[in-house]
Amino acid sequence: MENPEQNSDATEELAQSYSKRARVGVNVAVLPADPGLRIRISDYHPNERDQIRRAYLQKGPHQPKDHIFPLKQFGKISRRFNPDWFEEHAGWLEYSVEKDAVFCLYCYLFKPYVGAQGGGDSFVIEGFKNWKKKEKLQKHVGGHYSVHNQARQKCEDLMKQSNFEVVENPEQSSDATEELAQSYSKRARVGVNVVDLPVDPGLRIRISDYHPNARDQIRRAYLQKGPYQPKDHIFPQKQFGKVSRRFNPAWFEEHAGWLEYSIEKEAVFCLYCYLFKPYVGAQGGGDSFIIEGFKNWKKKEKLEKHVGGHNSAHNQARQKCEDLMKQSQNIQTMINKQSDYTTG
Ligand SMILES: [Zn+2]
Ligand SMILES: [Zn+2]
Repeated sequence: MENPEQNSDATEELAQSYSKRARVGVNVAVLPADPGLRIRISDYHPNERDQIRRAYLQKGPHQPKDHIFPLKQFGKISRRFNPDWFEEHAGWLEYSVEKDAVFCLYCYLFKPYVGAQGGGDSFVIEGFKNWKKKEKLQKHVGGHYSVHNQARQKCEDLMKQSNFEVVENPEQSSDATEELAQSYSKRARVGVNVVDLPVDPGLRIRISDYHPNARDQIRRAYLQKGPYQPKDHIFPQKQFGKVSRRFNPAWFEEHAGWLEYSIEKEAVFCLYCYLFKPYVGAQGGGDSFIIEGFKNWKKKEKLEKHVGGHNSAHNQARQKCEDLMKQSQNIQTMINKQSDYTTG
């Protein structure tokens, strides 16, 4: 089950550093501070979620009091967010500078995700910004057994529980919130730390859950590394009726450009489709190479079927990967030419 240590190439090293990170904890310093830039808690690895929740609770809700809150037109009147509301809802009310909207920290951390149709998720997903209806804040809190108050209870329970545990990031000071916010928004503009990207495809979050400014850089990083193919892994046997089979590493060569293997899930994934296939939700059914992973070793022909014809979703995604890499080569050439010009 554990990663073999004999493989010393960089990919393997990254995989190990990631799986170590998944066990020991994430780097909470790079968690997005602005609630409008966060990904869902459920998109983090299950092993990481409570540590992430604790980090957010320790920092407290994101309340940038000194921000110049922009005016918004409501009919003939213009209004804006009033920072006094931070005090009235000190425990949970968060403001996103990115989206000019408010969010709820408790619900972000613990409210079960019910999809877009729920309608009541404005304080978690899109953010609330109807400054004319301040009473909605109180309504969001609701009664004793409201969803919000259940989430609050879970937050309190988690923090009580963590009082008995070792502090995992002692160098993390809680008043560095603003610094973290700045470092994140800088990161979102300039680029992510690609070394921290999960290597194992079974541990990745969706590309669409990264900040839009960061996506192409993340795609390039994955394409430069190439598909994750841990050739020396001892692939476990799986029972199919009376026969047991396992993944055959020779398939890596047959599908060298895209086939990836997840040690975490003992299943294969497609790099091209991960990077560029539009997400269509669970009902599509054809997403086994992106979301859950394919592991029916009895039906090897499905790999070829996944590739499909010239205009298949897979081949369209492949084309986008090639275009992106060409584009970045052009940019690199331009930069090289420019520095040639300035230096010589
Ligand atoms: Zn709430
Ligand atoms: Zn594919």
